[in-house]
Amino acid sequence: FIEVNDIKKSYGEGGSYAQVLKGVSTRIEKGQICAILGPSGSGKSTLLNTIGGLDTIDSGSVKISGVEITQLNAKELSLYRRNYLGFIFQFYNLVPNLTVKENIQVCEYLTQTPLDMNELLETLGLTEHQKKFPSQLSGGQQQRCAIARALIKNPELLLCDEPTGALDYQASREILMLIEKINKRYGTTLIIVTHNTAIKEMVDRVIKIKDGRISDDYVNTVIKPASQLEW
Ligand code: ATP
Ligand code: MG
Repeated sequence: FIEVNDIKKSYGEGGSYAQVLKGVSTRIEKGQICAILGPSGSGKSTLLNTIGGLDTIDSGSVKISGVEITQLNAKELSLYRRNYLGFIFQFYNLVPNLTVKENIQVCEYLTQTPLDMNELLETLGLTEHQKKFPSQLSGGQQQRCAIARALIKNPELLLCDEPTGALDYQASREILMLIEKINKRYGTTLIIVTHNTAIKEMVDRVIKIKDGRISDDYVNTVIKPASQLEW
């Protein structure tokens, strides 16, 4: 489903800074939840952004569902992102003067085949909050709104960068349970970049990055439900 082939990347004009990704190759199967872990600065977000076509690379390729996204021009890429990808970040990036429902609607109109709004609000526990503004919500509720916004397009791939990074234990656990539910209900493939090592136990696959290279990569034989994770 996702094929990452020997990607190399440096930041700066003409790649003037040190190389951040030093030849990363991997495959991720459709419908899986995959966690990317590793020390701060190791290149996790850069890798995720590369897979999501948010960032250019120096060499190598990324193929998703047979489409080599690293070969698309800017217009094709934005169309691709709009139709197939969802992003979730540590800070929710909601529009402050729009309500929960309006924030989600912004993305609903991006596709011809959105999920059912009411069902999604219900699934994410947002029905009672739909008329509130982001400032009236807890962090966990804001993140649920951000997830709903990413999901309304029914993307085949959801990329999450530190989705629980700004949340406490309880709220984090709820978000993880939600991620599990989304994967089961909609068959969404999820890639989660995280510092939370407990997440290793609930995912199908773990990829560890160290200094721009994959240092470990394994498939879990036993998967623990998010509700039973402890950290
Ligand atoms: P963290 O866990 O702290 O989020 P990370 O593994 O996600 O770290 P990246 O954000 O991918 O790390 O950054 C990898 C390296 O690339 C770091 O050394 C960082 O300083 C550098 N870097 C990231 N973005 C840029 C940029 N826009 N310009 C220059 N250097 C950058
Ligand atoms: Mg990061």
